[in-house]
This record gives sequence, C-alpha cells and structure tokens, in this order.
Amino acid sequence: MSPDRSAILPVYAPPEIVFTHGEGAHLIAEDGSRHLDFIAGIAVNALGYSHPAAVGALKAQADRIWHLSNMFRIPGQEELARRYVADSFADVVFFTNSGTEAIECALKMARKAHYSAGHPERLGFLGFEGSFHGRSLGAINAAGNPKYLEGFGPALPGFRHLPYGDLEAIRAAITPETAALIIEPVQGEGGCRALPEDFLRDLRQICDEAGIFLIFDEVQCGAGRTGKLFAHEWAGITPDIMAIAKGVGAGFPMGACLATHRASAGMAVGSHGSTFGGNALAMAVGLAVWTEITRPEFLAHVREMSSRLGQSLEGLKARFPDLVLETRGKGLLRGLRLAIDPKPVQIAARAEKLLVGVAGENTLRLAPPLIIGPAEVQEAVEKLDLALGTIAAARAA
Ligand SMILES: *Cc1c(COP(=O)(O)O)cnc(C)c1O
Repeated sequence: MSPDRSAILPVYAPPEIVFTHGEGAHLIAEDGSRHLDFIAGIAVNALGYSHPAAVGALKAQADRIWHLSNMFRIPGQEELARRYVADSFADVVFFTNSGTEAIECALKMARKAHYSAGHPERLGFLGFEGSFHGRSLGAINAAGNPKYLEGFGPALPGFRHLPYGDLEAIRAAITPETAALIIEPVQGEGGCRALPEDFLRDLRQICDEAGIFLIFDEVQCGAGRTGKLFAHEWAGITPDIMAIAKGVGAGFPMGACLATHRASAGMAVGSHGSTFGGNALAMAVGLAVWTEITRPEFLAHVREMSSRLGQSLEGLKARFPDLVLETRGKGLLRGLRLAIDPKPVQIAARAEKLLVGVAGENTLRLAPPLIIGPAEVQEAVEKLDLALGTIAAARAA
C-alpha cells in the first residue's frame, strides 16, 4: 500500500507498517510478518482477532438488518440492555457508538436529573487530574487535560479538576451547585494508574453525603479488563452512572451509558438520542462479546494471566532499574512507568514484533486481548526485555 496520508487530517502519526489480518493475539502485516499485539486497538479487541463467536454474530446479522435507527424497536438492544442490567448496578442503558458519546450521555443525564428534581443550579462537575474521557468538547472539559483543551476556546463553565488523592480538597470543592463527580477507577490514557480501592469507597461516601452523582468512566477498564466485569467491583461499591465502550464491542464500534433509575430520572422521550447508537450490527456483536466475557472461567482466566503478567513486569523492573521506575495498573491494563520517553521503547518493541502503547507520565501501556495465554505473556515479556536491553545499551554507549 502506498504510504500516502496526504488526504488524512494529520491528527495521528502511525508507523508505516500495514496490517492485513489478525489471528487471536497476533497481527499479520503485508510482508507476512507476525506481531504479538499487546495493545489490542487500545484495549478494544478483548477477544483478539477473528473470534468465531463475534465474527459469526456479525455475519448472521449482516444477512438480516444492518440498521433501523431508534425509530423502531431493535430486539438485540432490548436483550443486551437486560444483560447489562442483570450483570451490573444499573437499571437502564443508553447505547452509543463510542466512549465519548457514553460520557456525553452521562454528563447530560446527571444535570438533567438535578434539573428535574428542582435543582437546575446543580450543574457542576468535578473531574480529576490525569483523567481521559474522550475528545468531544464536553469530554475534554470533564478531563481538563490542558494539552487537549488548548486552542479549542475557553474552558466550559461548570468543570473543575482536583488531584485524585486529596479527600479534603474534594469535600471543599463540592458546593450546592455540584452535579456529579467523574472518574476512571483505573486511569488508562493518563498513565495506567489503578486508583486505590479505599479512595473509590471514600468517593462513594462523599457523593452520598452531598447528594451528588458518582460517574465512573469504565470505557477502558471495564468489560472484564481488570479481571472483574467492571473495575469498580474490586472496591465493592457502585456508581450512579457509568460509561462503557472499547472492549464491549471487541472491535465493533459501540458503547453504552448505564444508570440507576434515580440518576436517569430526568431523561424522557426526546431528552437525548443517537442515529446509530444501538445499531443492529453492534448489538449482535455486543451480545456475542458479553456472552463470552461473562462466562466465569473467562474472568478467572483474565485474573490468572494478569497475575503472571504483573509478576513478569516486576522482573523487568528489577532487571532494568534505571529505566523502569514503577509497574502500574490492574488486570490486563498494565503500565511500566519509565525514566525516559516511552516512544523509543515502543519502537524497539515493534522491532521485536511486539506491539505496545504509550500513556501519560512516561508510561509504556500494555492492554493485550483478554484471550492471551501463558505462552503469549512469556513471549511479550521476553520481547520487552530485548527492547529495554536495546535502549539500555544505546544509553550506555
Ligand atoms: C477511549 C476512552 C474514551 C473515549 O472513547 P472513544 O470511543 O474514543 O470515544 C473515554 N474514556 C476513557 C477512559 C477512554 O479510555
């Protein structure tokens, strides 16, 4: 394929390599080379590539109906929503095409609930440093990362940001005009940081005391990635509203906003909508994916692979103490915080045919398909060892 990206808006800078197909946790490039994929479309391809259940569901639906819009009932939507409700804290579900749209729905819903309860002044959001919630105007304001806000006009009113650990600052920041608090239980983009379970429990209590909503962004850390269906389950608490996407479609674009009756009370016919959200193809794939990841042995497997990976990463930290400062994350969303820019390590890993990502705070990000086995964990760690060795040797020279 000719490397001509001149007609593409230049907001991404991918390497030249072109992948043509995938099998399990591997991607195969045009030149026939096989690459072990430890980033999985950024924590999306939970079932790896060419998973027969997902592919079969998509093909079968493609022969029936692709798209109807929400003007008409979509049986797959009703069934998948019932499944999400049965497997979570939620009472109702709104389907979207992406994580960002699930976040938008969450923010709108929180304001509308207060408005409908006679508190239109309750419209403020408290977000946290190191967060990522997507790229819409609402989402960049909710996360407050100056890098993503710059040049896009004044920050929207109603959004404040706090350091994640400081309970007193959080309590002090809540006013009679606060609507909700929004946070990722495991921060992805910001540096693969698993927030302490105690802290999440404290947030739940603070929100209850203040009568505000707790919104969890589980777009990256949900869908089984941490070894529980949702990352907040580790803390033994539930949110009022939750955004999910990425892994729930395992590569088919879809997301959802889940909520309790109380948090969704303001939403009625006409309050919100989406042309494509809950599309028949997405629902067919979403159902197949949910059926896979809710099998108890599936999550047990994720936990098993996660503890192997976690231990091996500790080994890398011990072998390269000058390069690897810290291992981070939870489940199969892991990070190595490095003493240097992670990009050269990412490139060195690619030379070893291992695909990894980067995240904030100089973190190398690992988010493999959840179906990886012990051999793939070992292979990935060996390749990372080689890549770190290359970088260490270059630095010593
Ligand atoms: C990726 C991501 C989003 C945005 O999802 P898109 O599907 O890219 O719109 C929001 N929140 C988190 C935590 C994410 O990782």
